[in-house]
Amino acid sequence: MSMFCRQCEQTFRWKGCETMGVCGKDPEVAALQDVLIHACKGFAACGQSVRQAGVAMPENDYLLMEGVFATLTNVNFDPDALEALIRKVVAERRQLQSVSADRMSGDMPAATQWVPAEDRQGLLDQGAALGLLCDGDLDKDRRSLRELLLYGLKGMAAYAHHAYRLGEQDPAVSDFLYKGMAALADLSLDMETLLGLVMECGAANLVCLEMLDRGHTARFGHPEPTQVKLGYLKGPAIVVSGHDLHDLEQLLVQTEGKGINIFTHGEMLPGNAYPGLKKYTHLAGHYGTAWQNQQREFVDLPGAILMTTNCIQEPDMTYQDRIFTTGAVGWPNIAHIPEGEKGAKDFTPVIEKALSLGGFSEDNIEKEITIGFGHHTILSHAEQIVAAVKAGQIRHFFLIGGCDGARPGRNYYTKMAESIPDDCLILTLACGKNRINRLDYPTVAGFPKLLDCGQCNDAYSAIVVAKALSEAFECGINDLPLTLNISWYEQKAVAVLLTLLNLGVKNIKLGPSLPAFLSENVLKVLVEQFNIQPTGTVEDDLQQVLGASV
Ligand code: SF4
Ligand code: SF4
Repeated sequence: MSMFCRQCEQTFRWKGCETMGVCGKDPEVAALQDVLIHACKGFAACGQSVRQAGVAMPENDYLLMEGVFATLTNVNFDPDALEALIRKVVAERRQLQSVSADRMSGDMPAATQWVPAEDRQGLLDQGAALGLLCDGDLDKDRRSLRELLLYGLKGMAAYAHHAYRLGEQDPAVSDFLYKGMAALADLSLDMETLLGLVMECGAANLVCLEMLDRGHTARFGHPEPTQVKLGYLKGPAIVVSGHDLHDLEQLLVQTEGKGINIFTHGEMLPGNAYPGLKKYTHLAGHYGTAWQNQQREFVDLPGAILMTTNCIQEPDMTYQDRIFTTGAVGWPNIAHIPEGEKGAKDFTPVIEKALSLGGFSEDNIEKEITIGFGHHTILSHAEQIVAAVKAGQIRHFFLIGGCDGARPGRNYYTKMAESIPDDCLILTLACGKNRINRLDYPTVAGFPKLLDCGQCNDAYSAIVVAKALSEAFECGINDLPLTLNISWYEQKAVAVLLTLLNLGVKNIKLGPSLPAFLSENVLKVLVEQFNIQPTGTVEDDLQQVLGASV
């Protein structure tokens, strides 16, 4: 049995995972994910017809988000869960077809008539004919654009899923999720149409990021500068990883008064800065670093672990009995916390496990860092920032943001942060910041040199700040003294990249390597239109931005 996947940055030899995913995805899971994407295309095409008639169907929107999200890198490795999702998506498609047959009489793609095999082996056989390369004689440029669109949709589906759980939905986001997935069911689309859809995906994702920001801030308040302890404290502990702040909130409520410390991990770090979350005094700090270090960091952890979204790695034998998944995340034979009515979850098994383990025997705080510089906080100092730029006290802004990863080459970002002169500010977001947020920084014009904007979805904060600065300086974003130095790993980063391109942002430095799914011609288009550049050496890249005065 073989597979083909190249959706993430760590794909095998920068070409594609063909026998086993570097991430741990095996051919069975790969085939089921290919089938699930195919099922979602048919479901989306039917759903699009219904939506065009003005019928709202929020539960179907959520199912489509769930189905697409489950195929993101490092999210769901559980064949049973994937098969269940395939059958649910097809059942809902058939339901739509039965109640809205009159709206689907036109030219519907073949995926809307697809029938899943009755057993697992049959599904796997179907998967072999539905993979990325099973697209007939499609040329590599159109295949590349189709992948760019699909991965942007996957990232957006994940963000939309987080927002939905916070009670936020936006028709523009759901509309495009249906439209984009339905478009992928049509192999005849030409380059121009596909390029248009890719840009549209970026626009829809901006609405999605804004919606998620609204979901977070309406529920938990605006992030505020907050000192966070890195390490652990004595006593029973639960470490929460992923991005889902709604899960974190529910866990905090359910552990109140139980003597358990809750520590964030990976992309949960920004949770410590929200007033509505940090009011829980047992939200005790941040444990560990980014997702790719979890196996090493969880081995000796005497507490329970909750993985709320991406990015899970194969749980080592030593902690399989104390790690739990929830939401879209899944791993075979790992306990999963299901979602109940209105998104409610019962974390009792996680809590009982934490109490039974006893926890840390002593305190160990490595250091404290300051986080919580979302757009609200930064823009409350806009006048001061603008004055400091005009006075030459702030020479340049660097955004060092994006995903972390296991491959060598990412120390570029650490070296970049260390080398940026002390009259520049560094904005950071997403888990890549774990490489730079433990460094010591001076203040610049009264501001901490490193301003942590939050999770990867908080790229929205960086966009709001950049727009506000461009208004203040009466220039375009590309004319600001701002350099975007973005590290990518998985498909959320693709969605954010498409959003930046849709906003017309140019000169992005993308690393640590360019996506394997970009064909030469598609890359050429991106370079010609947006001057996307691969990262070079720190010295050269700094010199290019700051000139000889580095
Ligand atoms: S998600 Fe990445 S590592 Fe996993 S199989 Fe696909 S390309 Fe390979
Ligand atoms: S920023 Fe990307 S790589 Fe990092 S945890 Fe989030 S989704 Fe995963």
